[in-house]
Amino acid sequence: MDVTTNASAPAAATAKPKLAGGPLQIVVVPNSDFVVQLTPAAKPLVEKPANAAAQRARVVQFRVSRAVLQENSSFFQTILGSRPNLADITFENKGGGFGHALEIWLRAIHNGPHTLPNNLKATRMERAWVAIGVGEQFGFAPNHIDKIKPWFLECYQYALDNGGLTPFVACCLAFPCSVFDHAEGFMKLTKYLAYHTNGSLFTNNPSSFHHLNHDARVLDGPLTAARAHIQSILETELTFPIDKLHRATCPCRKETAFDYEDALRALDCWPIDRAMQQYPIGEIIDELEKFEFTPKTIKCSSGICAHDFKNSVNIAIRRAKYAFDGLCLDCMERSQIDHVDGQTRQTFLEKNTPFKGCWDIDCRFGHGRASWYYSWMGPSSVRRDILNKYREEKKAMDVAKGSHRTRRGIRPSKDSNIPTTRVASMPLKSQAPARTPIAQNNTSDKANNAQDSGYDHDVDDEDEFFDAEDASLGGHTVTDDIEELDHEAVN
Ligand SMILES: [Zn+2]
Ligand SMILES: [Zn+2]
Repeated sequence: MDVTTNASAPAAATAKPKLAGGPLQIVVVPNSDFVVQLTPAAKPLVEKPANAAAQRARVVQFRVSRAVLQENSSFFQTILGSRPNLADITFENKGGGFGHALEIWLRAIHNGPHTLPNNLKATRMERAWVAIGVGEQFGFAPNHIDKIKPWFLECYQYALDNGGLTPFVACCLAFPCSVFDHAEGFMKLTKYLAYHTNGSLFTNNPSSFHHLNHDARVLDGPLTAARAHIQSILETELTFPIDKLHRATCPCRKETAFDYEDALRALDCWPIDRAMQQYPIGEIIDELEKFEFTPKTIKCSSGICAHDFKNSVNIAIRRAKYAFDGLCLDCMERSQIDHVDGQTRQTFLEKNTPFKGCWDIDCRFGHGRASWYYSWMGPSSVRRDILNKYREEKKAMDVAKGSHRTRRGIRPSKDSNIPTTRVASMPLKSQAPARTPIAQNNTSDKANNAQDSGYDHDVDDEDEFFDAEDASLGGHTVTDDIEELDHEAVN
């Protein structure tokens, strides 16, 4: 950091009025005993020549409290601790909202986040990134990020209220949501990114703090894998009628199978992997809503050609729509084993294990297994152990209940499975009430047709997918091999 100090300058006890041509004085706290000064950028701002002169001419002095700086910043703690007589400190204003962000931080740590004047409210998403970058540079973040969280929440809301949720907005704000620990926004935006974008980019950093792009790449692996998971559900369900026709013996089966695929192709939705290269999953689902198909044959000897194809497509739509709730900050935090000192392996496992089929215990917002799975930040071998244990328990429970088999693809209803005391202690989950009835309808077409089609597997479709993914991961950890995971999960 470019820092110049003037230890001999007198401490500024009172605010000076702004003089014509003099520095702009900003009194953050009335009884200040320290000055943070921003000098104009050393290099002219190439991108905005019209504003460059004005910005170059302005020196800004923030009148602040030394004690508050030390309390809220590791950076100032070090500098002021070693130089007790220091009266002011000077930094270069790098432009692009740098001064604006520093003022937000200084006001928030001194007077609280709700005292910011209107002109500091963020109406541009870029400001969220600059606030993170400046916060890190001055040592306010990450430890004191909560001091400006309300400011970020307004910034987030402003973006959504003015223009709505778009791929651009989601790419710009998903990572800041994780930094500011905005669990609801993070889940919503990461879900949106999985369903409504189809490239490999999940982040757009409009600020000049380019090093943050590296941190933001943590989203790439989980979201790419989550998208592949939704794709596999669509593919499995849409392929179901074709598999059924392949097992039929009637002469009309081939034409029916061909015409069914043709109807999907007419919507540009088949084959799925080709459609996925062209469109986001959300658009494919919208197109599938238009699916209509009536087999030409009227005298099918096997009866298989009379299959309800529209129903199969509707099941594919429904299952795909609710396959992924977004990434969960609480699951991500909880599964990062290294973050908790002195935690035993057993405690770690217990904290991350589902409770009676509920995958979002102690999470701020409700979600299913896929969100838990893709939010996993610990060793993949541990995740596999947890899944295996869960399946063993589920099987034991089914045996105890006396049921030979369970319907596949149904998530247990939370309300019926969680003891009352546990529910009372759980934080309110905004998505949970809406999800439960949907999840109950989230039944695989295979399960519905298992009896009449002779298709008989006892394995949950999702289990199959997660098993395959775990097998492909081997002993690698997500944290170690995030890029490798991208490829392996997709391939
Ligand atoms: Zn037939
Ligand atoms: Zn969670």
